[in-house]
Amino acid sequence: MKLIVEQCQRYAKMRAHTATHLIHTELAKIFKTTKQAGSLVDEDYLRFDFNADRLLSPEEIYDIEKNINQMIYDAYIVEVKETSYDEAIKLWAKAFFEDKYGDVVRVVRVFNHSNEIVSIELCGWTHVLNTKDIWCFAITWQEAVASWVKRITAVVWPKVAVRMHEIQDILDTTVEKLWIKTPTQLADKLDKTLKEYDDMKASLESLETNMIKDILQSKNFTSDKIFEKIFTISSDLNFKNVTFQAKWLFPDSTICVYTKEWNFLILAKKGASAKKITEEIGIKWWGTDGMVQWRDEKILQVFK
Ligand SMILES: [Zn+2]
Repeated sequence: MKLIVEQCQRYAKMRAHTATHLIHTELAKIFKTTKQAGSLVDEDYLRFDFNADRLLSPEEIYDIEKNINQMIYDAYIVEVKETSYDEAIKLWAKAFFEDKYGDVVRVVRVFNHSNEIVSIELCGWTHVLNTKDIWCFAITWQEAVASWVKRITAVVWPKVAVRMHEIQDILDTTVEKLWIKTPTQLADKLDKTLKEYDDMKASLESLETNMIKDILQSKNFTSDKIFEKIFTISSDLNFKNVTFQAKWLFPDSTICVYTKEWNFLILAKKGASAKKITEEIGIKWWGTDGMVQWRDEKILQVFK
């Protein structure tokens, strides 16, 4: 039993490894100067890092998948041959020059039905003997891991089926949550929902602005010898908007607006300095002469 499991795992890695070579071939068609920057091969799963200045377009991903699946369908022979390193380089095998190679190397070649070489690499790993044994191939993810290093993650059968089920699950859940009937309605529904969200946000912002204006224009304030008006407002209000409205409503008054959560705003009328006022009331903070706005715990003690 253990032997069977081990064999299955070995075949799963062989499928993924031969697929890695095919990805390399496909990428070389797109990026003239691409170079492998690392790879990870697991059971029916692979990760391939390569040097490129940009990510692949959706069309390029589709083409790579299509071409590799075509090579699988066409059942190309995979040949592993031991030869001398010099002979292998003459055959234009892709070698990683950072790696050390012995005198005898393994050349892995994939031939099409016209006996032309589709892929050739120096490689010590085991491979399937025919591309048809990969069964099926799908790219699942791509990302930039560094500015010059891009990463592709892919699966081969049977993980392609697992991946399809995962995507189907995500789609089913999304369709259900959005109260639509089929995934084809997703884009429309999302557009509609985002529009509703934007409209609602705009109307909430306008409501809030009116509320802030009402508070600032109300008689609900105190005053002292420094400030003509002192407002305590709810910290639920957008303080940036409060600042904007206060500046607009009271260009000629010295006022203070604060929340119980340490936000404070000091506006100074012409001839006064908001910076100096903060020093006078014992809070030292920078700002302009016209306005100081900051968050500070000490404000609690000052205005208590
Ligand atoms: Zn290899």
